[in-house]
Amino acid sequence: MKHIFVLRVGHRKRRDPRVSTHVALAARAFGAEEMFFSGDKDPELVEKISKAVTNWGGEFKVQYVRSWKAFLNTWKSRGKSVHLTMYGVSACDTIEEIRLIDRDLLIIVGGQKVPRELYDLADWNVSVTNQPHSEVSALAVFLHMLNEGKEFEYKFKGAKIIVLPSARGKKVMESVL
Ligand code: SAM
Repeated sequence: MKHIFVLRVGHRKRRDPRVSTHVALAARAFGAEEMFFSGDKDPELVEKISKAVTNWGGEFKVQYVRSWKAFLNTWKSRGKSVHLTMYGVSACDTIEEIRLIDRDLLIIVGGQKVPRELYDLADWNVSVTNQPHSEVSALAVFLHMLNEGKEFEYKFKGAKIIVLPSARGKKVMESVL
């Protein structure tokens, strides 16, 4: 696999800003390059993540796409796609095959309602257990499995804030670059 990208489908500006922010933060922390989102246009979401990147480093981006379907059809010439859904086949049974692809990977998470067509367009429909939970937990667990835990070692270039792990309390190093 070359690079990891995330597509968050069906963002609702009024109801989802927190969940979509957390999808983006989880995507970034666990090694994705960029999150695309469809649904409502939301400059505040883009701005919030851009601020987080300025503080916490790296080059993660967020971009709005008008049509998830057109985006996914175009994606097919660039790489493969995995749709995370409680109805899919277990991540335990598919993760090795997915890890072995030598193209970019797009991980798709839904919102309140996922269009039926998405199930047909994605290369894989994968579950993180067959119980309902959330796009944030599904994405984090899937990326953790895909990375085999290597996200614990990631360093983010240009970070202004770095957490110093400590058994108690909060220790942070702040640079004024
Ligand atoms: N019933 C909805 C559906 O159409 O799948 C669930 C919506 S859930 C609030 C939002 C998103 O979380 C889903 O679109 C999916 O991407 C993700 N999700 C929730 N549970 C999951 C699971 N067990 N495995 C994989 N993804 C899951």
